[in-house]
This record gives sequence, structure tokens and C-alpha cells, in this order.
Amino acid sequence: MKIVLSFMLALTLLDAKAVHITHYTAHRPLCYDHTAILRTFDRDGQHMQLTVDVKTLHTSIQPAAAPGGHPCAPSHYTRLLAKAVSAPWPLTNDGITHQHGGMTLTTDLCPSSKRGFERRLYRTLIDRFPHPVPVTLFVSGRWIAHHEKALMQLRRWEAEGKLALTWGNHTYTHPYHPGKPLEHNFALSEGYDLKADTLKLEQTLLEHGITPSIFFRFPGLVSDKKSIETIQGLGLIPIGSDAWLAKGQQPTEGSIILVHGNKNEPKGVDMFLKMIKTLQSCPILFHIGRDCKRTHTL
Ligand SMILES: [Zn+2]
Repeated sequence: MKIVLSFMLALTLLDAKAVHITHYTAHRPLCYDHTAILRTFDRDGQHMQLTVDVKTLHTSIQPAAAPGGHPCAPSHYTRLLAKAVSAPWPLTNDGITHQHGGMTLTTDLCPSSKRGFERRLYRTLIDRFPHPVPVTLFVSGRWIAHHEKALMQLRRWEAEGKLALTWGNHTYTHPYHPGKPLEHNFALSEGYDLKADTLKLEQTLLEHGITPSIFFRFPGLVSDKKSIETIQGLGLIPIGSDAWLAKGQQPTEGSIILVHGNKNEPKGVDMFLKMIKTLQSCPILFHIGRDCKRTHTL
């Protein structure tokens, strides 16, 4: 009975009206013990902060602490961030593209007003793997704006303990100009404010009751030194991929797999669903930045 009631409460909370976020401010991370403060904001009038645990990489929200803290000592978080933003800054697929062990599934939710949502992908994961199944979403604000029902479905699976979702940032508008050279496209488009657009997506997630993670994926996987530094300045870790399935890249041990959850590339989802039928033993799916052997075993 207690379980049923708490489940119903969770669903009620999901349906609750969005909260109001104001004064959203990014900070260069300052640390208290094992916690780095990334943002402060007012939520329905209460002063709050978004923090990351520098050991586990988990983000959380709590009432804002008094100003203070100290520069963060070397940690799992600072080391991963430094690795992700280091030279030589290639035009495509910069950031973390591979890990040790297992495989990490990332699903991009780029804007797609008509196409929608690869329900079959998440449904198959829920049917196939022990719960909760870890999945990283890279979500854009323009996808959320057109797919509130799909967002609600993801949140329900999360509340029911079926999926363990990491809410990655794919910018709010996810600019794209067909035919333009990559040097002037996606986040490198003229006049585009990457910092503001990234923070707008975080604010949108918070307004839906979702805690943003520290992971970021550049639209089109296109970036340069300056844009990488912008994301670093926000304390976010760029994530690329060494297994973009629809482009024919085959996953290996440690791969960060990229498929689209927005029906942009059904071919990649077809390949992934075929692939997981044959995989056994070492965990196929685990969270970015964590040791697969300790997190998820089939
Ligand atoms: Zn995208």
C-alpha cells in the first residue's frame, strides 16, 4: 500500500505545474569538501544551488549555502573536465569519446517538431535489462517544447525505477543551417550565444523538476577551442562518441554509443536493438564517468 501511495505521489509530482526559476547564475566552481557549486538561482522565491559531487559526478539541488568555498582540489570531476577540454580541439567529436569497460548509451533528443520519439528504444531497454537501466539523454529545449508528452513518459519511467536517466545538455535551440560549412554551423553559427543557450536549457529542465547533469553534447558534435572553453567555463564536460551507429561506427569495449531518440535516425536505433540481442556478460550499459563493474551487471 505504501509503495502504491508513494508511486502515485511521484506521478502527481510529475504532473504538477512547472516551477518558476529566476536569477539563474553560473559560477566558476567553488568547493565545500566534496561538493562544487555550479549555479545559484531562485526557485519559486527560494534561493537554491545546483552542485556536483566531485567524486561521484552526481548533481543535486539544495538551498544555497552562504557565500564562500575554496578552489576545487584535484578530483575525479576536475580531472575528467581537464581531459575533456584539452588540445588539440578538433572541429568534430571533441571531448570524452571513450571510457574504460562496458558501453555507455547516449541518446540525443535534437529538435524535431514532427518526427517525435523512439519509444521502442526505451521500451526495449526496459524489457531487456535489469532496472533501473542507465541511459544518458542529450536533450534540447526545442525538442522539449514539442514533446511534452514524451518528456512526461521518460519522467514516469524514471519515477517508476525503470530507467536511471542522466539529463545531458544539448543546448536549448540546437542551431543548424543545412549546407553551411561546419566552421560556421551548429554552435559556431554567427551571432549564436552558446553560454546563454546552454544555461537556458538547464533552466528549462529545472522548471520541469529535472536536475541537469554536468554532461554536454555539442549540436552536430561540432566545436572549436573557443566554444570548448565556454563549456569548460560552465563546469560542463563535453561528450563525443566513438560509436555513432547510423554512421557505421561499430562499438567496442568502452564505447560511448550515439543514437537518436527523436526518430532522426531510425537506422541507428535498428542497429542498436539488433546489437543488444547478442550482447552478454560485461555490462553493456553504464553511466558516464563511472566504473562499469561496480554499477551495472547483467
Ligand atoms: Zn543533435
